[in-house]
Amino acid sequence: MTILGSGDHEQMKPYILIVEDEEDIAESLRYNLEREGFKSRIAESGEKGLRMALDENRPPSILLLDIMLPGMNGIELCRRLRKEPTTEKIPVIMLTARASESDKIEGLDIGADDYITKPFSLKEVIARVRAVLRRVDRDDMERYEDERLKVDFIEMRAHCDGNEVKLTRKEFGLLTHLTKNAGRVATRQNLLDNVWGYSYFGDTRTLDVHIRRLRQKLGDCGDCIETVVGVGYRFVGYQSQD
Ligand code: CA
Repeated sequence: MTILGSGDHEQMKPYILIVEDEEDIAESLRYNLEREGFKSRIAESGEKGLRMALDENRPPSILLLDIMLPGMNGIELCRRLRKEPTTEKIPVIMLTARASESDKIEGLDIGADDYITKPFSLKEVIARVRAVLRRVDRDDMERYEDERLKVDFIEMRAHCDGNEVKLTRKEFGLLTHLTKNAGRVATRQNLLDNVWGYSYFGDTRTLDVHIRRLRQKLGDCGDCIETVVGVGYRFVGYQSQD
C-alpha cells in the first residue's frame, strides 16, 4: 500500500487513466486532457492499468482504454474492473483501431460506457469524457432536465419545450434508461434487457420501431437520441451550438 505524504493533494485529485501502449497517442491524449484541466496518468500495459485502477488510495475517475494491448487486452481489463467492487462503476471509454463491430459490442456488453474509433479527434475525446463524467454526477437523479427536455422519473412525465409528451410505458422506459445513461452507448440487447425486463431474444426491429415512435413523439427534442449505426442508441440531450 502506498502512503501518500502530506501536501500531496495535487496527487489526490481525480484523474483520467489512459491505458495505451502507443506512446504518441498516450502523450497527445495526456497533453490535451491536461490543457482542458483534467489530471491524467498513463499506463502502457493492461496489467499496469489494472494495478493503477485497483489502487484504493488513488482511484481514477475514468479510463480511456485501448483495446489492442500486448498482454492483457482492453476487453479483459474491462471485464476484470467490472468484477471488482471498488472498480465496477468506474466509467470506461474504449479506444479501438478495429473497425469490426463485434469488438465494440463485446466491450459495451461487458460494461464499457462508450467507444471511440481511431483515428479520433481530440475534441471528440474530450467531449465524450465530459459527457460520461456528467452522467456519473447525476447517477441517483429523480429527473433529467436540459434547455428543452424535462423527464421526471418519479411522476413518469416528459416535456419538450414546455409541452407534455404523452408516452406509453415502454416508450417512457426507453427514454428513462437512455437519459439515465446519457453519453453512454446502449446496445440493442442492453435496451431490450433493461426495458422489456427479461432477456429478449425476439426481433430487435421491435426496439427500432419503439425508438422511432419515441423520437416522433418527442418532436423537436427527438434528436436528443442518436443512432449508433450497427450498435444501438445514445442519449446526447440538447446540443447547444456553441
Ligand atoms: Ca494498441
